[in-house]
Amino acid sequence: MRTIGLIGGMSWESSVLYYQWINRGIRDRCGPLHSARLLLDSVDFSEVVAWQREGNWAAAGAALAASARRLEAGGAECIVLATNTMHKVAEAVTSATALPFIHIADPTGAAIAERGLRSVLLLGTAFTMNDDFYRSRLEQKFGVHCLLPSEPQRAEVHRVIFEELCAGVISDVSRAAFRAIISEATMAGAQGVILGCTEIGLLLGQHDVPLPLFDTAALHAQAAVAFALDQATP
Ligand code: GLU
Repeated sequence: MRTIGLIGGMSWESSVLYYQWINRGIRDRCGPLHSARLLLDSVDFSEVVAWQREGNWAAAGAALAASARRLEAGGAECIVLATNTMHKVAEAVTSATALPFIHIADPTGAAIAERGLRSVLLLGTAFTMNDDFYRSRLEQKFGVHCLLPSEPQRAEVHRVIFEELCAGVISDVSRAAFRAIISEATMAGAQGVILGCTEIGLLLGQHDVPLPLFDTAALHAQAAVAFALDQATP
């Protein structure tokens, strides 16, 4: 089994999910007492949030590159950056080591394409929804087109992520708001929904909405398991 290197802490609420899913994936495939070989380098999220707010992506990239180097030095055989937003600085992380980098948009795009869907609603932080780094990879690599919520809805999704989900707060009011955003997008032609922030799965599950949900954290964790077991990754 190969050793997974996980850059976590963004937020730790979702790093916990990665740890569970990766270990469950290994157990399901290898047997009840098997668990993942995994190194976790967990950063202080408040520092990352400060860089995001300042627009200091270079500092954030340098910090995550240092994290990747620590994982490589510790024996990791791949890098898994456990956040969608910080894939904005994926280039800084991939160039920091010689290790394979499992990009979070790749298992997501592959799962959507496998279902034969072309047009999906993207929910995530303002950085993930508004900037091009995420949507363009899905479009160019997988032919998946992302629909976005309205501007006020994007602001609300962003607020819920940082003020609630990353702080461990799960609210019925916010769940209802997300469901309303999804119903509106369904009428606008969305065929599925990308939970493009690794904490949204804490708020919303497949039982909450009729459209297929693509939980980036779960799909990313599955891709890490496939890598660890040397199976095909997208
Ligand atoms: N975990 C979130 C994501 O997947 C947001 C936290 C962050 O800004 O990294 O984008």
